[in-house]
Amino acid sequence: MPIDATLPYDDQNIFAKILRGEIPSTRVYEDDHALAFLDINPQAPTHILVIPKGAYVSWDDFSARAPDAEIAGFVRAVGIVARNAGLVEPGYRLLANIGQHGHQEVPHLHVHIFAGRPLGPMLAR
Ligand code: AMP
Repeated sequence: MPIDATLPYDDQNIFAKILRGEIPSTRVYEDDHALAFLDINPQAPTHILVIPKGAYVSWDDFSARAPDAEIAGFVRAVGIVARNAGLVEPGYRLLANIGQHGHQEVPHLHVHIFAGRPLGPMLAR
């Protein structure tokens, strides 16, 4: 079920538990501001999730409240993860779902990295 991205942060959400190491994940990158791990239900041959370490519900929350250093660190981390995975050529797609119409399911900001095949048009029609 999509979440209401205006709700306060819930520290029991599944990505908060992954950040705390309470449930397993296949981690591919970590630094001061971000953690990246493989999506449990991949939608492409490569499907990585990148999350900020701070407690932010969504892109809306993050872009409104996060200090500049956290925003810069997170944006750079997304680029590093894709570069480290060798995705720059032939390319990849970033996606962040926000709220109900965005079909966001986990209420901790995450950016999806999809790659590994031609990904087709942006949205299903
Ligand atoms: P979204 O619809 O943008 O909120 O995407 C949530 C994503 O989290 C989906 O692609 C799920 O497959 C993924 N996901 C849910 N639980 C886990 C988990 N425990 N480990 C890795 N990925 C997960």
